[in-house]
Amino acid sequence: MPSLIETRALTAFYGDFQAIFGVDIRLDAGETVAVIGANGAGKSTLMRSIAGIITNRAEMILHRGEPIGALAAPDVVRRGIALVPEGRKLFSSLTVEENLQVGAYGRSVDGPWTLDSIYRLFPILKERRRNPATALSGGQQQMVAIGRALMSNPDILLCDELSLGLAPVVIKDIYAAFSKISAAGAAIIIVEQDIAQALKVADRVYCMMEGRVTLSGQPAEFDRADIHAAYFGAE
Ligand code: ATP
Repeated sequence: MPSLIETRALTAFYGDFQAIFGVDIRLDAGETVAVIGANGAGKSTLMRSIAGIITNRAEMILHRGEPIGALAAPDVVRRGIALVPEGRKLFSSLTVEENLQVGAYGRSVDGPWTLDSIYRLFPILKERRRNPATALSGGQQQMVAIGRALMSNPDILLCDELSLGLAPVVIKDIYAAFSKISAAGAAIIIVEQDIAQALKVADRVYCMMEGRVTLSGQPAEFDRADIHAAYFGAE
């Protein structure tokens, strides 16, 4: 069985600047995988590459064994891969509900996620559904961004730095949703700077540094020193 997502010697550039150097990761059905690493390690670039925001050579990214690295973002969404981008990128002129509905335009398939089930996942969004999305708190806006991605009923959910700038209690609520999203059938990649949080939720972890994977495996395989070295480099 091919993996849901596999990258093979993935490279990525911004103009002449190379941000990723030969990254191999995979995501299998039912898994939650975390990508950790310091600022600038290349985590967002990896997510943007899989999501088709940065295009690559086709064979560098495989979805169920098929090369998709050269596809544009809307085609990637149509294949069931949805990104919750860093910084949420909500539509400020739209209400909460309209932002959620936007997520359904790219792909119309039946699945567990509808406005109703997203409101059950995040009940506060139902209360706030007629408010402009940007009038919500940071944590609530993050819930809208997750809900918008779920509206395409993805098999694969890519989440970039969800907890950045949020209070611990809010982060806890958001992470509680992931077990439900996973139980509903999606495999998940979470980009996270908070190592403890990542190790808690992930089946497997990749650590990146300076555009390369420096450590990979199951959380129980690592001790603090391994992670410190992979995250910050040898001292
Ligand atoms: P962060 O936690 O800061 O988001 P990250 O691990 O997600 O870090 P990336 O955002 O992928 O890292 O950045 C990887 C490298 O690419 C960094 O050196 C960054 O400065 C550079 N970079 C990111 N976006 C761009 C861009 N749009 N144009 C040029 N360089 C970029």
